[in-house]
Amino acid sequence: MRNDPRGARVGRDEGEVRAPARGEVYYSEDPRDVGWVRENIPCQTACPAGTNIPGYIRAIIEKQYGGSYEINREANVLPGILGRICSRPCEDVCRHGWPGNGEPVNICHLKRAASDLKSAGHRITESLYTPSGKTVAIVGAGPAGIAAAHDLSLLGHDVTMFERERDPGGMLSYGIPEFRLPREILKVELHNALRLGVELKTGVAVGTGEGEVALSRLLADFDAVLLSTGCMAAIPLPLRGETGGQGEDPVRTTPGVEYGLDFLVEHHRGEKKTVGRRVAVVGAGFTALDCARVARRLGAEEITIHIRTTEKYIPVTKDEIFEAKREGAKIVGLRSPVGLVTDESGALTGVRFVQNRLGGWREGGRRQAIAIEGSEFVEPCDTLLVAIGQKTVNDYLDVELELDRWGNAQVGEGGMTSVEGLFAAGDYVSGAATVIEAVGHGRQVALGLDTWLMGRVRRKEVVRIEPVEGPLRERAFDFIPRQEMPTAALAERFQEPDREVETGLGEDLAFEEAKRCYLCNLKYEIDVDNCIYCRACIEVAPKNCIKLVEGVEIKADGTYGELAEAHEWDHVEAIWIDNNECIRCGACFMVCPTRCISISRNEIVVRDV
Ligand SMILES: Cc1cc2nc3c(=O)[nH]c(=O)nc-3n(C[C@H](O)[C@H](O)[C@H](O)COP(=O)(O)OP(=O)(O)OC[C@H]3O[C@@H](n4cnc5c(N)ncnc54)[C@H](O)[C@@H]3O)c2cc1C
Ligand code: SF4
Ligand code: SF4
Ligand code: SF4
Repeated sequence: MRNDPRGARVGRDEGEVRAPARGEVYYSEDPRDVGWVRENIPCQTACPAGTNIPGYIRAIIEKQYGGSYEINREANVLPGILGRICSRPCEDVCRHGWPGNGEPVNICHLKRAASDLKSAGHRITESLYTPSGKTVAIVGAGPAGIAAAHDLSLLGHDVTMFERERDPGGMLSYGIPEFRLPREILKVELHNALRLGVELKTGVAVGTGEGEVALSRLLADFDAVLLSTGCMAAIPLPLRGETGGQGEDPVRTTPGVEYGLDFLVEHHRGEKKTVGRRVAVVGAGFTALDCARVARRLGAEEITIHIRTTEKYIPVTKDEIFEAKREGAKIVGLRSPVGLVTDESGALTGVRFVQNRLGGWREGGRRQAIAIEGSEFVEPCDTLLVAIGQKTVNDYLDVELELDRWGNAQVGEGGMTSVEGLFAAGDYVSGAATVIEAVGHGRQVALGLDTWLMGRVRRKEVVRIEPVEGPLRERAFDFIPRQEMPTAALAERFQEPDREVETGLGEDLAFEEAKRCYLCNLKYEIDVDNCIYCRACIEVAPKNCIKLVEGVEIKADGTYGELAEAHEWDHVEAIWIDNNECIRCGACFMVCPTRCISISRNEIVVRDV
């Protein structure tokens, strides 16, 4: 029996939290254990697919690349793809990036390293459920639809996908350029995701036009239908066009001007796209940056990305901005386009902008841009690519669906829309987001759809707790600098436009980077009944991580309440490791004379109910 200074008892009796015997692995559904994982592994909590990041990083240290790949794949289905183009919300919150700890771990590129370094003959192992006899139609084979199709087929359902393009992948195939995501990697991972018997019908659009399959038909023919049709339309820019008639969109009617999304999709369909010598791009997301980099490879000499606010608020990874600039793109802030300037033939010669200043904060941590009156100016250019956002398209529906004011599908718990048996996932629900959000949502909705089809919950998350014999890390690892991704030389990129820019970490860099991870899934605890309060651990601790306390409150959800630190000996009731401060260096464990510090590995796993 051990005293948990947080007030909870530790043992096997009812109401007690946990009591792993030495070496014993056990599974816990206690909300406090689940809460501990959510609170203490910030990277995993931030990952929309809940990827077990310390788990796969530890496998890289052990050079178990195939195992590392599988840990990833279990959560996010497409590790080789995401290891290249993920938006990396995990890195924003990584404990290694917290003040005083240095830079975040290069989590994303380690994911890619596991994928690159696994053996060529690596075999995927998945245990399939018995056939359920249920049929599901999925409309749209982007990352959300693919992730859902994978999980639903694994759960034994008969899945048919309808995709209007020639190839599956959605924006992975038709938006993101090959120099960021090689198509061979894409092909293999999409194939593996669908290999459990999903029937993929490409070149088949769901809609109301001739030769298209009606959604109402699918609802009649299948037990359930999932819409994952993404955000397929560019958000129009309200320009004062010097050409085009009343009501026409000058972006569509002026030679030399087009929407960035259409430009990229057509380019990836194999259409021949051309750009002028001077290219202006308007917008600040992935599409805008990809337009600039593709334009550079199509021969543009001067490329300027014009943004409303400033570079600080561009919602793409720092690497994307860095590489776009290295390839010659200029980013200029605080301006909004208001009109086009054309010559006598109607062709574009420039864009009229208004100067902005920064205003208040908007939702999502960005700033407002406020136009400055009388500040208009013209930037000359030959091509303008407009990439200010994407939205859903709903004219393919022949059933009435509740949509929000932006045209996104409204879903309830489990991902069901306002129509019984019709589910929706990915960008079609969230609005334009990211690949990992689409994958995470696709998986979550697949689980909701399965519950609805089967009339009961079949899988749920529990915490796997495994005692660990030693720290698994060394203090010296804390001083290793972040290992950055090597890239191809500029000349090579332009000679071979589809050549992958990021060349991979390789075994040595991956090993060095993996060692940096604190392995936040390791929980350090002090058995206060055996502690002699010698303070040896406090003396060696690199941070204010071990505290003498009057008491600590642990809430029902596993989070900690106010910590009452004791500053005088007669107030000390316990000694406690603050896992928020702990960087898992192992120093305390090594010096403790009574071996009363224990370490356990805590991981969320999915189990059958
Ligand atoms: C140029 C560009 C670059 C991007 N770069 C990144 C990046 O680096 N990292 C990142 O995380 N995110 C990036 N994104 C965002 C990311 O690609 C999307 O958030 C993600 O693809 C959304 O997945 P989804 O499955 O919801 O939709 P989509 O990927 O859009 O897939 C929807 C699919 O539905 C199909 N479809 C639509 N209507 C029909 C119909 N009526 N019948 C049949 N099929 C239909 C479409 O053809 C498409 O294949 C980028 C987006 C773009 C446009
Ligand atoms: S140090 Fe490792 S486990 Fe901790 S948040 Fe960063 S990547 Fe995740
Ligand atoms: S392992 Fe021990 S000494 Fe190291 S940071 Fe954590 S509590 Fe402090
Ligand atoms: S080193 Fe061990 S015995 Fe000494 S105070 Fe720390 S936990 Fe207690």
